[in-house]
Amino acid sequence: MAGEQRESCKQPTHSAFGKISTLFPKHTHFDPSEQGMLHFEHEYNHYTITARLAATSGALGCEFLRRMCAVLKISQDHVIYAFSAAMAAVATVESGSTVVFETVDALGGQVTHEGTTLDSLDFSRVNPATGPVAIAGAQPGDALLVEILDIVTADHGVMLAVPNLGILGDRVSTPSTKVVAIGGQTVTFNQWSLPKQPMIGVIGTAPQTGSVPCGTPSDHGGNMDTKDIRAGASIYLPVFQPGGLLAMGDVHAAMADGEVCGAGVECSADITVRVHRVPGFAIQRPLIVTQEAMMAVASAETIEAAAKMALEQIVQFLVDKEHLSFNDAYMLCSLVVDMRISQLVDPLLTVRAVLPQTYLTAPLHL
Ligand SMILES: [Zn+2]
Repeated sequence: MAGEQRESCKQPTHSAFGKISTLFPKHTHFDPSEQGMLHFEHEYNHYTITARLAATSGALGCEFLRRMCAVLKISQDHVIYAFSAAMAAVATVESGSTVVFETVDALGGQVTHEGTTLDSLDFSRVNPATGPVAIAGAQPGDALLVEILDIVTADHGVMLAVPNLGILGDRVSTPSTKVVAIGGQTVTFNQWSLPKQPMIGVIGTAPQTGSVPCGTPSDHGGNMDTKDIRAGASIYLPVFQPGGLLAMGDVHAAMADGEVCGAGVECSADITVRVHRVPGFAIQRPLIVTQEAMMAVASAETIEAAAKMALEQIVQFLVDKEHLSFNDAYMLCSLVVDMRISQLVDPLLTVRAVLPQTYLTAPLHL
């Protein structure tokens, strides 16, 4: 019955409605006879809660619905500074759950004004990631599929130029910090208004062995600093430990490929994701999926080594899933796969191999 109602509904036009229906696709529908109203239905402990919200409710409406649905919010009190094989979950959720991760900027929120000097920073609080959250039933050999639904940033972020940080760090003689205003659509840097494009710098699962600092990317994900990890994209992460153990942080309101000075617009943010267990989808390292492309992400000590690992994952995918010969897959990649530099500044360097979805007969799920 509810399904029939949903099918007959018009697409919402108001952006707040769009956001609510993305966050709660099973709970919302739009009645064409009552334009401007959102109908919301949620079953909770055998009670059905129904609500009608006006378009004008906007962010407040979203927060209200989040609370009604008891969407789990992981507060920034739960942070890790390394992804470790032995870390313990702060919460366990069922596959298909929506979770909000409240994240702190990469400097631990310590730079609040441009006079903040770097030697005043507590470096033990740098590069926090919020979590980890276990996904019930996830076992080594599965993958997690993390749909990135929404990234709501703080109203300001921080940029840095620091001696020996980034690819021209040897040219920086004195450090400087800049507080950058983040608006609804733009980020203001000096006289320039840049598009606001929030992305997740650090996202990953528990590694196979040992412990990887949050500032370092590796096969488990971590500090990949890849600008395609943004709202509307999904990321598949390998599960190496029971529950997978998902954590994330280091949002950048803007960043270009390379992250040349070692920083994006570093900001705190609330990240809303829906997380699924994908049984038996054994991947070696992360895959990003967007409407247009599938991207294999790899990190290594050199760009060449990272590029080789990323390309191998795409070629192997084409061999295994599309049944191409190795040589055909390899040649196809030379024609249609763009090799992009994600970042050049972390302890390992990150490259992504980008295959347009049009070359897959069965595009990967977003
Ligand atoms: Zn960062």
